[in-house]
Amino acid sequence: MPVVNTVRGPVDVADLGQTLMHEHVFVISPEHVDNYGRDAWWDEEYRVADAVAKLKAVAAKGVRTIVDPTVWGLGRYIPRVRRVADQVPELNIVVASGIYSFDEIPHQYEYRGPGLMMDVPEPMVEDFSRDIVEGIAGTGVRAAFLKCVIERKGLTPGVERICRAVAQTHLRTGVPITVHTNPSTGSGLLALELFLKEGVDPAKIVLGHSGDSNDLDHLMRLADTGATLGMDRFGLDAYNSTASRVATVVALCERGYADRMVLSHDSACFMDYFGAAWDDGIPLAAPNWHFGHIHDDVLPALREAGVGDTQVDQMLIDNPRRYFS
Ligand SMILES: [Zn+2]
Repeated sequence: MPVVNTVRGPVDVADLGQTLMHEHVFVISPEHVDNYGRDAWWDEEYRVADAVAKLKAVAAKGVRTIVDPTVWGLGRYIPRVRRVADQVPELNIVVASGIYSFDEIPHQYEYRGPGLMMDVPEPMVEDFSRDIVEGIAGTGVRAAFLKCVIERKGLTPGVERICRAVAQTHLRTGVPITVHTNPSTGSGLLALELFLKEGVDPAKIVLGHSGDSNDLDHLMRLADTGATLGMDRFGLDAYNSTASRVATVVALCERGYADRMVLSHDSACFMDYFGAAWDDGIPLAAPNWHFGHIHDDVLPALREAGVGDTQVDQMLIDNPRRYFS
């Protein structure tokens, strides 16, 4: 039986259980925290304890695994995630390698690579592969999937280089890919075109944020390639309301696509995008955007609309297991 590496070590894929395929423990920029957070809204001990409480609450709903695509550009810092994971033994946390950029290549990779000032093999492939094979930054925690972005600017030179490095690392290591897409600009199609050209099996791709769209023709076209649709921003009503997201999942289930969708919130225990407003402003501005929304509200609405337990299990258990197998 295949295993997937989690923060606490390898887990049999059969034991992943109900899996939320796109949630963040922490999204924080070290540079932002160090300059503006420490005397204002960032308290390390408080945030670790708060994350433990929030993840214990989601585990109490039956979730056994969260998949956290926090990579370079979103503030990945594994020692902090590990402190949290060690205090929530009932929940697996799967972490990623990759780069989160909507446009440019980070300067740290700009001058090094094939044909560049420092003419060396693609350093992103080297770094991502080390995360997956040896572990991240000496922690021994191994990344189990890859993350990149194609946003509304499309395949800029920087985005294209990152996505190709992700594809090449996938071919080298075998771990699957989650790509953040912007379905209103159809960037999922760009992602598929690039990855298929690089030789990636579409079954190993989650097209993140597909659920921001209610365009069934577009979504079926993506899913017909064999890729999995990330219906993964439940509660982010600013992008698409819960009612619309539910109606789209129901319609796709009716058309036989329950084996091509995964569910999540794209929420976090803490995000520094909102600073001090995370605790008191977000619950007012986006009241459904929390780890409990799917179990509290979405699953009952899906069942009410005729989605069966088998289909729910496909989206929450079987499809994540297949992706990591
Ligand atoms: Zn995310």
